[in-house]
Order: sequence, then structure tokens, then C-alpha cells
Amino acid sequence: MREGHSTVTRRQDYAPPAFWIDSVDLTFDLEPTKTRVLNKMVLRRNPDVPAQPLRLDGDELNLARVVLAGQGCSFRMDGQTLVLENLPEGTAPFELEVFTTCNPEKNSKLMGLFMSGGDFFTQCEAEGFRRITYFLDRPDVMATYTVTLRADRKRYPVLLSNGNLVESGDLDGGRHFATWHDPFKKPSYLFAVVAGQLVAREQRIVTRSGREHLLQVYVRPGDLDQTEHAMNSLIHSVLWDEARFGLALDLDRFMVVATSDFNAGAMENKGLNIFNTKYVLAKPSTATDSDFDAIESVIGHEYFHNWTGDRVTCRDWFQLSLKEGLTVFRDQEFSQDLAGTDSARAVKRIQDVINLRAAQFPEDAGPMAHPVRPDEYLEISNFYTTTIYEKGAEVVRMYQTLVGRDGFRKGVDLYFQRHDGQAVTCDDFAQAMADANPDSDLARLLPQFKRWYSQAGTPVLKAEGRYDAAARSYTLTLSQTCPPTPGQPHKEPFVIPVRLGLVGADGRDLPLQLDHWQRPVDGNHTLVLTEPETRFTFVGVDSEPVPSLLRGFSAPVELDWDATPEQLLHLLAHDSDPFTRWEAGQRLALSIAIEQIAGPADGSRAEPLNDAYLAALRALLREPDLDPAFKALVLTLPDEDYIADQLDEVDPQRIHAVCDAMELQLAKALQTDWAWAYDAHENTGAYSPDPVSAGRRELAGLALHMLCLAATHGGELVWPGKAYQRFKDAGNMTDRLNALEALVYSGHDLAGRALQRYYELFRHEPLALDKWFALQAHAPDHNGSVLPQVRTLMKHPDFNLRTPNRARSLVFSYCNGNPAAFHRTDAAGYAFWADRVLELDTINPQVAARLARAMDAWARLVEPYRSAAREALARVAAKPSLSNDVREVVTRALA
Ligand code: ZN
Repeated sequence: MREGHSTVTRRQDYAPPAFWIDSVDLTFDLEPTKTRVLNKMVLRRNPDVPAQPLRLDGDELNLARVVLAGQGCSFRMDGQTLVLENLPEGTAPFELEVFTTCNPEKNSKLMGLFMSGGDFFTQCEAEGFRRITYFLDRPDVMATYTVTLRADRKRYPVLLSNGNLVESGDLDGGRHFATWHDPFKKPSYLFAVVAGQLVAREQRIVTRSGREHLLQVYVRPGDLDQTEHAMNSLIHSVLWDEARFGLALDLDRFMVVATSDFNAGAMENKGLNIFNTKYVLAKPSTATDSDFDAIESVIGHEYFHNWTGDRVTCRDWFQLSLKEGLTVFRDQEFSQDLAGTDSARAVKRIQDVINLRAAQFPEDAGPMAHPVRPDEYLEISNFYTTTIYEKGAEVVRMYQTLVGRDGFRKGVDLYFQRHDGQAVTCDDFAQAMADANPDSDLARLLPQFKRWYSQAGTPVLKAEGRYDAAARSYTLTLSQTCPPTPGQPHKEPFVIPVRLGLVGADGRDLPLQLDHWQRPVDGNHTLVLTEPETRFTFVGVDSEPVPSLLRGFSAPVELDWDATPEQLLHLLAHDSDPFTRWEAGQRLALSIAIEQIAGPADGSRAEPLNDAYLAALRALLREPDLDPAFKALVLTLPDEDYIADQLDEVDPQRIHAVCDAMELQLAKALQTDWAWAYDAHENTGAYSPDPVSAGRRELAGLALHMLCLAATHGGELVWPGKAYQRFKDAGNMTDRLNALEALVYSGHDLAGRALQRYYELFRHEPLALDKWFALQAHAPDHNGSVLPQVRTLMKHPDFNLRTPNRARSLVFSYCNGNPAAFHRTDAAGYAFWADRVLELDTINPQVAARLARAMDAWARLVEPYRSAAREALARVAAKPSLSNDVREVVTRALA
């Protein structure tokens, strides 16, 4: 069936709803192929809007009956919209009943009511509720819900919905029921139902106010032993939000449920969060350190939505970042606070920046670039992007940088004081922040600051420093530009907070004194750039300093600074700020890579890295008191996509060859140091996912990877054997997978045997098996070997394209995560991509549209890739019955 609407929705066209819905009483008769839904609503006209018909959204529903105030009533259909014209005049409430049925078993889109492993689940954000019943399916219509679920008791012993259980009992014919009432008004996208054979880990907690709550984590029977970490993360989340933001849990009962079929990571339905199993289930034998971390942050994220999203929600979907940017910021802060040490906080911050650059910067530079608050969309599902989430979080972080941590808390307090229970806009949040901090730079600059919401593109911050020995002054000239993005040829200057220090010859931060200040400050200062260009003069500077710019990554910009290698080496050795210290190493590597890529192909050196850089990395690796996790970050070279993002013309094979050469050289040049690093860090004792032991495993894993790489290229031969041994006897998945990856990525013969063994060990563990598929899709390409292997794996009995996690692990890993294997001169990678996009589009358009984005950067490819990519895109675009989701992505790409 065709989509409900195929026209563009514009932010400017927002109009309040013509009707409000006060309460909803839903009754479900749950059957896999035909579920009946009775929807009793109390509605009233919105007196602020001219009288008009009631238009209820629907999508793939079968309508049985409409009853108005107890009487049958006339209605008509406008496409999938149910239109009622003859409604009572005036603003008195009236009752409307709608009977529909739907088919959960056939629901492969996983939006609305669907089945997973024989159980029922729902997903309603953004527009899934209309697939359950006719409704005003928009976030500014907030209603009180009462839900009765009826189902076979044996097959569906657990019946859950939002809020509190008010009644339950038996029915005839082996059926039973449960009635739930949610005391909080909510938009339809936060509605949820779960029914099936589930078991729960339970924990009662008492929060600061003395209130008792029941926390539950529901999973399939047999998975209970994998819920401890999720439960602990949930408890930490509840305590943290109360301590840091004064936001208490407002429900007696808070439930988390895991499903293995889910389009996204998780969903913040009020009191009943539904999660992808990937972000709930973990045990040391099947989950890695990063899995444990991801669970902590996603559990936090969804829980924090209870206030930032549920208590205060979005007026319309253009305001999505209001809840997502803010909630990502909150989950990032949560993970940092939980990590404990300064170093662990910095490591988390660096990882967040790596992710932003890997995904969001390219998005901002590509055909799908859009502002944090977009102006239009064809399909809202396409705007759950890294710009809305991660760049949105950076924007929220800049508020905190501008008004300070206490000021930020005041702003949040005022936001809730003003807007609790409402559906609001990004402007409302900005205003609360400014009003709570009337004397701040933010309040003074608010209209300009809000350009972060309206202008797309990653700003470029250019920095130039000049030291004047006679005047003992250092002048820093900062200028900003922002490249054009689709529909936005010209940009106005942003407010850019630039946190910086000046590093002296001895490696210490100099005191900072701008020329108009009375006295210096210690070490760190945040300059607030508002103009296209500003010159800042620091006085009392005795010798030429090295500027350390954008400390902590204080703004989501690209820094264009023509530093000398000596300056970068100085920062790499001494910078007191871990972010800029790490960044100095990345800049060194990046400039070497870019120089190699730009040079003649036959003139490229097998050993591009210079001695000074290698010596600096060696020294850092051996530095006694430095955090191993930080060392691992510094010793990891920038990835191919990040390098591609810096170039106007992208030759993926050339980038790959240069990266390979650099990595191999690093592996060989530091062989003894890697061996030391492995031996010194490989034993982490009994498994615990804490940052200290995880950091040790991370560095040992990197070392083993480097040692196996060196071994397969003429280095010390014992390492692949050691890796195989470690793979066999590892006490946890992190060590095991690191060893397996070391074998696979180095192309060693033992890799095949290890993969086979891994499969036998984990064939019944879906999440571990996802890693097995992904690893083979990520494997190095020997004469085009990866694509045929991916094709073979698609026929594997454990592969199923309809399961999003599995599709992502194999197909996405190949198309998105292995550029050298994907960009083939014979265009077979692109043909594979097009086939899978088309195939997936008939199953699950949201997942298909995500895959479609793998071709975002096609226009910057060199030939023959460019023409072949365009052809593949055109082939997808030419299909007449394409979903809105995929059509929007490929149309933008080809525009
Ligand atoms: Zn979210």
C-alpha cells in the first residue's frame, strides 16, 4: 500500500490542532494476524482555531465502525485520513469511538503494533500510532490514556502498557486481561504496548524524597542472566538525574523491555521503554566493553527522556532536537560523571567527538545536510539524524559552556518551571536558558546564538597566531566561515565559544591576559567569537607560545590552523587538555595522509610517517602515568572516512592504500613497544567493564592488532599464534573479539579457523552472531574477496534481512564500514547496494532509507566511481513504487 502522504511538510506551516483529545480509552484484542482495537476518545474543538472537520490520521488500518456520542455517524476517507464533518458545534467535549483491526504479523515495517519472537511490541515515534488506530497523531495533542489488553493467557502471560496496572484477571476461553492507566498526559508517540512470554529482573529502590519505585527489566526467558548491567545502569540513571538536575522519577513503576526486532536503539515510551536487545543484554562472555558502555548510555538516554521528552515534549517534529539534542547531552554528561576520573571523562569526550566527526560532519557536508531545527521534510523518519542528535547535543553543550554548569542548571530549572506538561519549541528552551542567566554572554547574544538551530553546515574556524617579542604580546586572529549547504548558499556568523590556552616552552600553560584586562587568569579561557573575524591580543607573553585551541572541543567546528609539525609535537607531548593533546596527534597524522594522497600515486612512500612523529607516539605509549585508554586513542590513526571528509576529491582506494601504509609502518616501527604494551596490559583479572580495566584491554587489543599486522608483513612471527591462543582462552568477549579481529584484519591464515570456532561457540547467541557477520563484512579486501563473501553470507541459514540487527551487521557493515571493499572499479559494490536498498524497501522502508544514505558522498568521488555511483542511485530512484523514506534520500542525493 502507498504511504499516507507524499508531500513535503514545512515548519512554517505549523498550525495548532483543530481539536484536542482529552482522554483515550483503548481496548486491544491481541491476535497475531488480526488484532482488534476499540478506541474511545473524548474530544473537543480547539476554540483558538476556526471550525473545521476532524481529520484523524491512519495508516494501513481496516476500519470497522465509527460511533459518535453513542450513534453511528457518517464519515469519509481522504486517502488514509478519516474525515468527520458533522460534529457538534461549540467547544463541549464529545465522545467518539473508532473500531479498527490491524495485522501485527504482517507488519515488517516494525512501526505500530508488530510481532517479534511471537510477542507483541509497539513502536509509535514518530508516526506509528496511526498504524494502531485513527488519531490526531501529532506531538502537541496530549491525552490521558487508559489501556485494556486482552489476550490468550498461555501465549501472552505478560500484558504491559504505560503507567500503573489498575486491574487484571481471567476471561473466558483461556484468555486474560490487564488494564493500565497512565497518570500523565502524553502525545501518542509515547504510547506503548507489550504482550508475550517475558520475564523480569526486578529491583525496588527508594529515592531521595523517600518515594519507593519498582524497576523492571523484561526479557525473553533464558536471558535474565544478561540483565544485571542494564538494571544497574537504570538505577544509576535514576540517582544521577535526581542529583545532577533535581529531576526525580515520577512513576511508581518503571519498565524496560527488550526486543530483538527494532528499527532504532530504544524508545522512551512513558514508563515503558522498549529497547533493542543490543542495548539491554550483556554478559562478559558475549558483550564487549563498548557494548557495556553503550548499554549504560542508552539506558540513561531513554530514562532521561522521562523529563526531557515526556514531561516536556515537542510541539512538532521540527523541534525534535529539543528533546534529542538535550537528552544526548544529558546521557553524555551521565557517562562522564559515572566514568569518575578526569582522564576517563576526557576519553569519553574524545570518543564522542570521534563519532561526531565520523558521522555528523559528513552529513553536514553532504546532500542530506539540514539544520538542527530543519525547515522541511518529506518523511520525518529520515530526520532522526546525527545532526539532530549529536550536533544538537553540541549546541546544548555550548549553552553550558557559555553560562557555566550552575547557570545551565538554573536554565533547566526554569525550563521545567515554565513548561512542565507542555509541548514546546527549541526557542522556548533557548529563552529559558537566557532568562535564567540574564547577565551572561548567552542572554546578550541569544538571537545570534540561535543560528546554530537555523543554519546547516560545519563552520570553519581559521586561526592565525603572531608573536611579537618586542611587545611581549601574542596576537591570535580567529575568523569563521561556513560552507553553503542545500538551500542555504549564504551563512551569517555564529556565536563560537573557543576555549583555549597558551602552552609555554616548558610545556606548561601560561597565564592568560588579554590586552584590556587588569590581571591575568590561569591556564584556560573561553573566547566568544561573534564576528566573521576578530583579533585577540594577549600581553605579558615572555616567549613564543603554542596555542592550544578549542580545548574540550568547545564548539562543533572544523579548525583550520596551519600549525607546524613542531607546534603539534609540542602539544602532543605537553598539552594539559587531553582533547587538544589527542587532537595534535590526529592533525599530524592527517597532514601526512593528505600530503601522501595528493602526491603522485607512484611517488607515494611505503613509509610515510617521519621519525619525529613515531618517536612522539613511542614516548606517549611508554609514558608511565598516562591512562591506557587515552594512549589507545592517541595511537589510533584517523579513519578513512574522516580523511575522505577532508578532501574535495575522494579516491577511496588511494586513501585506503595510504592508511594501510601508515598503519603498517606504525605497527613495525614500534614493534617492541607494542609487545611491551601487550604484555603489560593484557591481564586485567576478573572481568569488570569499569573504565580502568576496559582501558587496559583496549590498549592490549590495539597492541595485539599491530603485532599481528607486523607479523604478516615480515615482523615477529609468534604473534598470530599468541592471538589464536588468546582467542581460544579469553575469559571475556572483549579479549576474544580483539584477538579474532587481530587475526582477521592482518589477513593471517589462522583467521578462518578462528571464525569457524567463533561460529560454533556463539551460533545460539544472536548479538554475538551479529559480530561474526559484521567482522567478515569488515574484513580486508584481497582481490575483491569481501563482496562474494558477503553474498555467500546472505544465504547463510542464520542470516535474515528482515531482522534489522542482522541486516545492519552484514549489509550495512559492508556498504558503510569497508570503503576499500565497497568502492570497486567494477561497480559491483554499488549494484549490491542498490539491490539491497530496493529489496529492503519492500520490507522496511526506514531501514532501507538508512542504507540508502551509504551513497551520500558519491558526488565527491573520482571516476570511475562517481559515474557508477550515480547510475546505481538513478536505478533506485527510477523505481515507481518507492517509499517516501528512500525516495527522499535518493532524490536529495541526485539533486
Ligand atoms: Zn532520544
